[in-house]
Amino acid sequence: MIDIKEKSKCCGCTACKNICPVNAIKMIEDDEGFLYPKVDQKICINCGLCEKVCPITNKLNLKNEMQKAYVVNNKDDQVRMESTSGGAFTAIAEYVISKNGVVFGATFDDEFYVHHTYVENKEELGKFRGSKYVQSDVKECFKETKNFLDSGRLVCFSGTPCQIQGLKKYLQYEYENLITVDVVCRAVPSPLVLKKYIEYQKIKLNVDKFNAIAFRNKEKYGYKYSTMTLKSDNNSYYQGVETDPYLRAFFKNYSDRPACFDCKFRNPNRVSDFTIWDCFTIGEICKELDDNKGTTRVIVHNKKAIEIFNEIKNKFNYEEISMDVATNNVKELKTAPIPNEKRNEFFNDIRILPPDKFFEKYFPDSIKVKVERRIRKIFVHTTLYNKLKKVAKKLINK
Ligand SMILES: Cc1cc2nc3c(=O)[nH]c(=O)nc-3n(C[C@H](O)[C@H](O)[C@H](O)COP(=O)(O)OP(=O)(O)OC[C@H]3O[C@@H](n4cnc5c(N)ncnc54)[C@H](O)[C@@H]3O)c2cc1C
Ligand code: SF4
Ligand code: SF4
Ligand code: SF4
Repeated sequence: MIDIKEKSKCCGCTACKNICPVNAIKMIEDDEGFLYPKVDQKICINCGLCEKVCPITNKLNLKNEMQKAYVVNNKDDQVRMESTSGGAFTAIAEYVISKNGVVFGATFDDEFYVHHTYVENKEELGKFRGSKYVQSDVKECFKETKNFLDSGRLVCFSGTPCQIQGLKKYLQYEYENLITVDVVCRAVPSPLVLKKYIEYQKIKLNVDKFNAIAFRNKEKYGYKYSTMTLKSDNNSYYQGVETDPYLRAFFKNYSDRPACFDCKFRNPNRVSDFTIWDCFTIGEICKELDDNKGTTRVIVHNKKAIEIFNEIKNKFNYEEISMDVATNNVKELKTAPIPNEKRNEFFNDIRILPPDKFFEKYFPDSIKVKVERRIRKIFVHTTLYNKLKKVAKKLINK
């Protein structure tokens, strides 16, 4: 039976929990706020299925016989604005819905807890749009996916590479009616850090409740400087990666799951049908598509995905590119982040310090942060911004 001795050996995909025939496995939150499987030995019948489906301990079966790569912008501007990059995911999902299919993805609940669920109509797809930079709780979704597949429905399951690999191991069968979409994934932060951050921002911004949270909102500064955004009835907060404490924790590798530092899914070859991710360098790849509203890089990994792409390509302004151009210099496909040297201290403090003390200890509003914020406000809409940012960083770090 599954017994997690090293946290880096569990990505929390839930395949083991979903496969257990006697429901002996529960996903339990650890001190850092991540879910790990725990077996109730009194119920376990030692069938071994949980170990068999684990995507971390079992060999990956990567077979991408005919990959093609594209950069795409969804022609629907509203979809694109609500999506993280170019809105590729929505076009794939709409195709599935148009065939009376079911789409699984990550959404918020009322308390901004991120979890997987499914939708069966186009109007509800909006809840999946936009990357939630926190680990999504898959709950019972693998079982629900199998039920839909067995009933003959077309199913699209979207998620991180480890979730897709976990789903495939759980299903143990290549369903023709399953379409999988994974993202290129840097890492997933802890849901506990997001919870604490929301408490912190309620205090700081003096609001009782947020109506919306977006980790990569484009409305104020465009795609290339998308911001963490919090909206309440009378307040809107927009801060970028250098100044917002939640994004700083993520990109400085404080808040990520241990398995992400040793991720075995970091590879351009996948078990999924589609892989989607950002394209900030679209200006160098295809100038005509560069309008700062967001572009998705898409790899289609097999014949089924190529056929679907051909059916939906009229929804995009797009360009076919080589696999080399698509994947060169994409460090998230090749190297794992290195844990911040203060990561342990950070997670010790999270349960002890009040929200304001906690975030201000690790992410103070220092002179460096203030300078960065000021530079961004003045220059972000000009081409000078990136150049000035580099110069300012050099000066500050001297
Ligand atoms: C945790 C995470 C880390 C990422 N890291 C990188 C990176 O390092 N580099 C990079 O270029 N791109 C990264 N991406 C991908 C990128 O943010 C966009 O998702 C991608 O560009 C597709 O955008 P889109 O406009 O086509 O679709 P969108 O409409 O933005 O699609 C969102 C899709 O992501 C899924 N999703 C959202 N949040 C989660 C979550 N927490 N867990 C699982 N699935 C989720 C939804 O179900 C949906 O399928 C990451 C995404 C996530 C979720
Ligand atoms: S060995 Fe079988 S019964 Fe025991 S926890 Fe694993 S799947 Fe469940
Ligand atoms: S990686 Fe997935 S299958 Fe393996 S132990 Fe963790 S939750 Fe279970
Ligand atoms: S970095 Fe790897 S282990 Fe972590 S969530 Fe992404 S795919 Fe899973």
